[in-house]
Amino acid sequence: MNSYPHPTTRYSTGPTRHPPERAARTTRYNLQVSSLRVLISAEQIDARIHELAAQIDRDLAPGPIYLIGILKGAFIFLGDLARAMKTPARLEFIGISSYGRNRTSSGEVKLTKDLDVSVEGYDVILVEDIVDSGITLNYLVKVLEQRKPKSLRIATLLDKPERRQRPVHVDYVGFSIPDEFVVGYGLDYAEDYRNLKDVCVLSDGPPAAA
Ligand code: 5GP
Repeated sequence: MNSYPHPTTRYSTGPTRHPPERAARTTRYNLQVSSLRVLISAEQIDARIHELAAQIDRDLAPGPIYLIGILKGAFIFLGDLARAMKTPARLEFIGISSYGRNRTSSGEVKLTKDLDVSVEGYDVILVEDIVDSGITLNYLVKVLEQRKPKSLRIATLLDKPERRQRPVHVDYVGFSIPDEFVVGYGLDYAEDYRNLKDVCVLSDGPPAAA
């Protein structure tokens, strides 16, 4: 039996993704990996990333380019994508606060970690784990365009197009998925599950406690 609280409440309605009482509760549970349903296997991810990398090589060689990962969820995708590419890449990270990472009461996004370098004049790919409402990327594109890159593209491992609230042009999409809460391959639930090799749906969980 799944002993994890069901993700839906925190995911879709809560203004704060990790309320302290829920986070504390979660740490009391053992991981029940058997309660996860594999949505996209490690092998499928690997094959698709090599296709995306080949496409990026065609578009942006000889480089160097900047890959900018959005913390924390994109770090595994960024690492695998960077190694699958032949184009020389410099790796940077940017941190934001939003509902996936503690959304503010206004629903807006703010920068919590800026780039360490100037990307002016370079080809840049912003690397995201999953595009949901589009609020995060809509905001970050505006921020990065002010840094005057030569070009700015977006790569995301996962996309949930039916959830979109803000327009975002995504250049490289790994997989379009239905509106389900997924974990693994960098994506967390209350900081758990990030190091799963597959992308999984947390399934059959009991309703969250009031
Ligand atoms: P957006 O601004 O596009 O609505 O939010 C994107 C962020 O929301 C992702 O980077 C991630 O942090 C979070 N998010 C959206 N859908 C999921 C999901 O299914 N699973 C997890 N773990 N995070 C998600």
